[in-house]
Amino acid sequence: MTDCLFCGIIARTVPGEIVHETERTVAFRDIAPVAPVHVLVVPRTHVENAACIGAEHADDLAAMLIAAREVAEMEGIADPERGYRLVFNVGADSSNSVGHLHLHVIGGRRMSWPPG
Ligand code: AMP
Repeated sequence: MTDCLFCGIIARTVPGEIVHETERTVAFRDIAPVAPVHVLVVPRTHVENAACIGAEHADDLAAMLIAAREVAEMEGIADPERGYRLVFNVGADSSNSVGHLHLHVIGGRRMSWPPG
């Protein structure tokens, strides 16, 4: 999609600090990190958000979860004693701000629950 920010990062027409890539996914550092590690995993295919996922996206979704695990391992936050957080925001109530499906991989500090 031409006017999508994350499609631009995937196409490398918009700057982004890409840390991991697969055939189906790209992962890059969040521009405003909320923790020592904050990486966004996105599908190369444009999907608006997690509420738009259908059976046809199953392979992309599996690839995103595998990529998230690999990013966590690469970034040194995969210790099972500590763990990390994976987040999909959907819509205004969640503060979703970018309309290209993305999985937040957040870790490296203790987090509270519920989120603010
Ligand atoms: P969400 O609230 O789930 O839509 O999250 C969108 C995320 O994208 C936010 O955490 C932003 O900081 C991040 N973001 C916005 N623009 C960029 C960019 N150009 N490069 C990397 N991350 C970005």
